[in-house]
Amino acid sequence: MKKIKTEKKRSGRLRTLLLLDRIVICILVAVIACASAALVTVILSQGVTANGRDLETDPIRIYIDQGHNPAPHHNLGAQGNGLYEQDLTFSIGCMLAELLKEDGRFEVCLSRPEESTVLGTDRDSSLQARVDGAAQFEADYFISLHINSFTDDSANGIEVHTARMGDESYAFGKRLLNGMLDATGLKSRGMKQSGDLFVLKHATMPAVLLEMGFISNQNDAAFLQQHPDLFAQGIYDGIVDHFESSYILSVNILLYIIAISAISMIILIVMGKIFLRKMPKGR
Ligand SMILES: [Zn+2]
Repeated sequence: MKKIKTEKKRSGRLRTLLLLDRIVICILVAVIACASAALVTVILSQGVTANGRDLETDPIRIYIDQGHNPAPHHNLGAQGNGLYEQDLTFSIGCMLAELLKEDGRFEVCLSRPEESTVLGTDRDSSLQARVDGAAQFEADYFISLHINSFTDDSANGIEVHTARMGDESYAFGKRLLNGMLDATGLKSRGMKQSGDLFVLKHATMPAVLLEMGFISNQNDAAFLQQHPDLFAQGIYDGIVDHFESSYILSVNILLYIIAISAISMIILIVMGKIFLRKMPKGR
């Protein structure tokens, strides 16, 4: 009889402890959930990027390579429909730089700050000078501006080249492509893998090469001549989109959730151990 009473007492105490255990776990989960929500809100409102970087105090450094040299020098661009690639890329680069500078979250370096700027002494050294310029500037991103040309003048549209597919350069390039397509309404030729392009191969930071339409195509050329600002605007929109995107934020949130989960697990294990120690020993 006494034994049964003790057993009842013990199982009652065990049930109370288990109940307490569950209440504590529920409170903990609630506290962690509230803390997570609060911190995610703070992260979202501060616009922190993937590297935990605050763009207000630590701007993104962007090197804009305007592709070619001015005539009559070496490393000239394509020409067609009365237009010169190097002149268009020079203008678009300058417009893009202005948009980025006005934003305040970016710092910019142009390969040709002046129309008369000439890089290198031949084609190879000219390309090397652009890669070196970006490294000296300690750029976070390298954008090379070009305009396509082809013997078949029906070829048209915008394409973006990166050395590899699926990496940071690719993600960045894809947003720039979408930005340009939205701003200009020109045809998309998509993302292209071009690991052998000199600047993409040798840049030491994420790098993209933009082919902003075909100078050999009448419609593209006319559009480039009339609306160079829309290319600059589209690229700018793509850059901003890249840093404000849910992709970047989701990386932050994912890392944060992993960290919170790990902390929760540790707390639960510690709590579990304390409770197990307090539990009445079985027969
Ligand atoms: Zn070119």
